[in-house]
Amino acid sequence: MTNASKQLLLEERENFIALHPTSQILAKQAAKHFLYGVPMHWMNDWGTPTPLFVESAAGAHFTCADGIDYTDFCLGDTGAMFGHSPLGVAKAIANRLYRYASIYTGAKRGQSFKRFFWARLLAVCQYCNRCQSVCFALRARSQIAKKVLVFDGCYHGTVGDAMIDMAFIDDSMLENINGKNINRKSLLGQVQDLTLYSQAAPFNDLAAIERALKTNHFAALLTEPALTNSGMVLPQDGFIESLRALCTKYCTLLILDETHTISTAHCGWAKAHNITSDFLVVGKPIAGGLPAAAYGFSAEMSKKMKAAKHDAPPGHSGIGKTLSGNMMTLTAIYATLTETASEAAYRHMLTLARLLEHQLNEAISAHKLLWNISRMGARLELQFCKTKPINAKQARAAQNDIIESAIHLFLLNRGVLLTPFHNMMLVCPATNEADVSKLIHTFKACLQALTSA
Ligand code: PMP
Repeated sequence: MTNASKQLLLEERENFIALHPTSQILAKQAAKHFLYGVPMHWMNDWGTPTPLFVESAAGAHFTCADGIDYTDFCLGDTGAMFGHSPLGVAKAIANRLYRYASIYTGAKRGQSFKRFFWARLLAVCQYCNRCQSVCFALRARSQIAKKVLVFDGCYHGTVGDAMIDMAFIDDSMLENINGKNINRKSLLGQVQDLTLYSQAAPFNDLAAIERALKTNHFAALLTEPALTNSGMVLPQDGFIESLRALCTKYCTLLILDETHTISTAHCGWAKAHNITSDFLVVGKPIAGGLPAAAYGFSAEMSKKMKAAKHDAPPGHSGIGKTLSGNMMTLTAIYATLTETASEAAYRHMLTLARLLEHQLNEAISAHKLLWNISRMGARLELQFCKTKPINAKQARAAQNDIIESAIHLFLLNRGVLLTPFHNMMLVCPATNEADVSKLIHTFKACLQALTSA
């Protein structure tokens, strides 16, 4: 399969160049001004020979600079989970901008945000800008000191405290290396030893977590309800519920990051499973594509945070960002949460996501491949392993960059975009059955090409 994928990848790279002459020209021009020709270096990590330039996008579709229409299952890697430029959100942002965008003072509608979003689980919230929500939640917990427990393979945005991994050397006799915590190897310019402040444990391993919490070294446990950044690793039945119980038992705060798992159901995974965390963090899809995030916390945490601020000398708290909580972003969040992320929208997304899961599994079985699909509501991931991984070690073992890139590029050249790197698919309120059929049809053609080579 890997050899067939290598061959297919070569062919599809040629195909991409032939299909996208305008993107080639634009890429050359951009390379004169941007590092790697892209606004952020990681945008260059796709398997395409040059970046794909997009002209416009609406709902579940976009048009590239060469005039080709794409069905988008990547949706800005979650940033556009509720569709590209929903009309209500676009109008609200434009109207807001005509009045004022950023004025450095109070805002209305907090009650509506809370009613919608925290849905009775949390008492108070604060707004900020992207992954700072995780940082601020962590800073808030450190008002009662100690370390943070995270999971091997986690990612919570560019949050230093979570950038550690467990090191494994396959077939090694060096048991002291296996499972040892290290700074994430890909980090650039990391000078501190992050393992002094954080520790990683394997996901779904309650015994390891209890061993760690028993030491009384941890102020907080930070996790997503499922790992979504090292392949998708779903929680085993009752796992997060047990984490909640362990955190309560050992007086450790539970911080849930629902930035991606908000795909699960209306108001997110924790609401659907009736789990109360001490902090709940969200970002990415909540503001129609604008950078925005929010974190909610319990009434008890609110009291502790106020006391800490009251007792601190005047000056910088370390929780800031000049433009966090600006009126334009708040308007975009309000419009997104009330207009596009409705219960009806979720019903539609989940129905189509189930259909997509079923049809992908049928295609995989028809070709007798030992692959599977993990799904968290409207979010699905293709994995190259027979059984669903239960931790990041297994998820890493299932990764195959060559097969992944070959599938990604084959589909992209036929007008279907999956999320690069891990072939994640998101269904948005504007996705329809024809879009799902197009993905399935193209995926089957790709499997045919890979297995008949
Ligand atoms: N939480 C999770 C789980 C994420 O995967 C991400 C980014 N992919 C974020 C938060 C937000 O990170 P950032 O603000 O750096 O985009």
